[in-house]
Amino acid sequence: MAGTPVVELDPGARNALDEAREQLAAAVDVLGLGSQVFDLLAAPRRELSVAIPLRRDDGSIEVLRGYRVQHNYSRGPAKGGIRFDAGVDLDEVRALAMWMTWKCALLDVPYGGAKGGVTVDPRRYSARELERITRRYTSEIAPIIGPDQDIPAPDVGTDEQTMAWMMDTFSVGSGHTVLGVVTGKPVAVGGSLGRAASTSRGVVAVALKALEHAGIGPAEGRGATAAVQGFGKVGRSAAAFLAREGMRVVAVSDVDGAVHRPGGLDLAALERHVDATGTVVGFPDADALPGADLLTLAVDLLVPAALEGVITSDNAGTVRARVIVEGANGPVTASADRVLADAGVLVVPDILANAGGVVVSYFEWVQANQAYWWTEAEVEQRLVQRMHQAWADVTAYASGRGISLRLAATCMAVERVYRAHLLRGLYP
Ligand code: NAD
Repeated sequence: MAGTPVVELDPGARNALDEAREQLAAAVDVLGLGSQVFDLLAAPRRELSVAIPLRRDDGSIEVLRGYRVQHNYSRGPAKGGIRFDAGVDLDEVRALAMWMTWKCALLDVPYGGAKGGVTVDPRRYSARELERITRRYTSEIAPIIGPDQDIPAPDVGTDEQTMAWMMDTFSVGSGHTVLGVVTGKPVAVGGSLGRAASTSRGVVAVALKALEHAGIGPAEGRGATAAVQGFGKVGRSAAAFLAREGMRVVAVSDVDGAVHRPGGLDLAALERHVDATGTVVGFPDADALPGADLLTLAVDLLVPAALEGVITSDNAGTVRARVIVEGANGPVTASADRVLADAGVLVVPDILANAGGVVVSYFEWVQANQAYWWTEAEVEQRLVQRMHQAWADVTAYASGRGISLRLAATCMAVERVYRAHLLRGLYP
């Protein structure tokens, strides 16, 4: 029944899965779907936990743990990234897989949601060790992945090279080259032009719409200001695209710390510094800032583009940004959402804001399966068109019902997935 909570959620220690389940529960409430539908949509369809025995370069052997979770595949093959991070655990992968289901449904790409990960700090391993980890992990999860089943992509701590190794390992096992088994590959081996920057491009396309919605003109006079948390695949290009749109990017951070320059950072110089040193810290033309302080700077736009759970009820009250666009998955917790809503901060949810990556992953899969390649301009034009359409759909849905953008986006996605369930029926 609408308005009645469908699940009792533990108010104590919470992780990303609790957040994802609470968001689903809120959408199920609004849609009036009831607790059985919640149970149906909350449960991951398949989960695989694998041991990854690794021979280190010094000859010693270490056993790592990896996961692949397919949350839902009612609308098509499962799809989602592979994370290499010391914090990876099964619940985090489950949460990220659920968010992928909603993201793919919201953007109407014909996929379900999945995620994978290995509990490992990639910075502590050589490139040869990372290749062995990737190949062994791929062969362990090979029975449940494939272009028609489940298609991985890069996420935190993995990149194009990781995808090339995954594609090669899977192809060797299949006896022929299977380009469509992963996306986010290098262009030279079946990647799509425009994929590397696609998540950031989508983040910025939506951020510009959100700023306009909030009455902030990015390129006007003083140049609206932005801070970006995370300077990896998503954050780095997002900062560059924001600057190109006339915004003043005043602060960026990575796992080691933040740098701040109120007049705007020289991003080209900062990128050279990061390429040379591996971190934003120590960039000479800016002030050092503790990483957490970036989140509370008085800026027009804040783009958290690192990890989940960084804006919580503990620090949400100190956030002074006017608009938050979630480059990362799950950076704002449900309780923080409530604090920010009360303070009038516009939050653009992850499943909308960072969906550009999966949109172009879909384009890559289509191109790879047809062995027919599009130009970069075609990719970008189709990406931006889809992001703008999704923005228009979500804002219309939200304003029509007087609900937040996150709740609107989740409701739209849940409705689509549930409709697929209804049409397919329950087997047996
Ligand atoms: P990445 O590994 O390329 O970069 C992560 C960045 O975050 C690094 O700069 C790292 O130093 C930084 N970081 C880690 N912990 C931090 C902390 N505590 N404070 C500040 N910075 C910190 O990863 P990515 O691919 O850019 O992914 C970032 C986020 O975006 C993740 O939530 C991911 O799930 C999400 N995402 C990525 C894609 C994609 O296409 N890569 C698509 C959609 C969503």
